[in-house]
Amino acid sequence: MIPQSFEYFRPETVSEAIALLKEHGDGAKILSGGQSLIPMMKIRLARPEYLIDINRLSNLQYIKEEGGFLKIGGLTREADLETSSLIRSKYPIILDTAAMIADPQVRNLATVGGNLAHGDPANDHPATMLALGAEVIATGQGGERTIPIAGFFLSVFTTALEHGEILTEIRIPIPPSGSGGAYFKLERKVGDFATVGVAAQVTLDGSGVCRRAGIGLTNVGATPIKAVRAEGILVGKTIDERQISQAAQLAAEEAEPSSDLRGPAEYKVSMVRELTKRALVRASERAVR
Ligand SMILES: Cc1cc2nc3c(=O)[nH]c(=O)nc-3n(C[C@H](O)[C@H](O)[C@H](O)COP(=O)(O)OP(=O)(O)OC[C@H]3O[C@@H](n4cnc5c(N)ncnc54)[C@H](O)[C@@H]3O)c2cc1C
Repeated sequence: MIPQSFEYFRPETVSEAIALLKEHGDGAKILSGGQSLIPMMKIRLARPEYLIDINRLSNLQYIKEEGGFLKIGGLTREADLETSSLIRSKYPIILDTAAMIADPQVRNLATVGGNLAHGDPANDHPATMLALGAEVIATGQGGERTIPIAGFFLSVFTTALEHGEILTEIRIPIPPSGSGGAYFKLERKVGDFATVGVAAQVTLDGSGVCRRAGIGLTNVGATPIKAVRAEGILVGKTIDERQISQAAQLAAEEAEPSSDLRGPAEYKVSMVRELTKRALVRASERAVR
């Protein structure tokens, strides 16, 4: 339970942090909320030689709408999402997600940027960001680049972020009117990681026909899964019980869970089917509200 020794830096600016990452190469790691990294260091699954603590970069802590996007700074805490009037009034799917992560103590420190950058398929925000069609802004020595969330998660604990890059912002296209979303999570007890989680976001036109659908799955594969076949079957159709059942069946087929302490794979597949139904029903209700 004692981490390997490391050198600690606390930069004041993004460019200073990027310069430190470059100077110390592969041995350096960013420390954000520390709620995943510190436990991994304690059991020595992570052994960084240099920790670059970005907690003084308070200019990366914001939630705002700008230029057609909801922009969330990389250092925004889960607790900031929960208390944001913008999130509470316009983005209930994000509120659903944040409120189900761990417990209030963890959420006071854990960051949205860290939740995505960690690349853990058990984390909750990735599925929601997949459903919302988000983009990740990575800032490195060469400036900023934009990574679509669908190409961000490469394998377990591996993302498209390159060494020397900081996840500085998450951008979500502001959903048009007639949109709604929801996140459902099955957990063994409050505060646990998901046995299964499903995020769904839909946009309906005036006649109830689905114009866009996004579905993301948590903890049923090596990476968070974008259930593209389930999304595809909804677009252009009126969302009713039959369409929802078909989409839920396809989402279950797209899941690739393993059996573990949280349950056998067959059970998790059934739960994907059920939670996809629930998430789509609630997303549709919220879309017409
Ligand atoms: C008891 C407990 C229960 C939890 N339950 C859940 C849960 O139910 N659902 C859930 O989603 N999460 C859960 N978590 C994880 C928590 O949400 C983490 O905080 C989150 O996954 C990582 O965010 P962080 O800011 O703490 O990142 P850190 O732990 O500081 O960093 C994690 C990794 O991401 C990298 N990193 C962090 N920020 C950046 C950045 N801006 N740019 C580039 N790389 C970066 C770090 O170098 C490190 O490799 C739980 C944690 C604990 C301790």
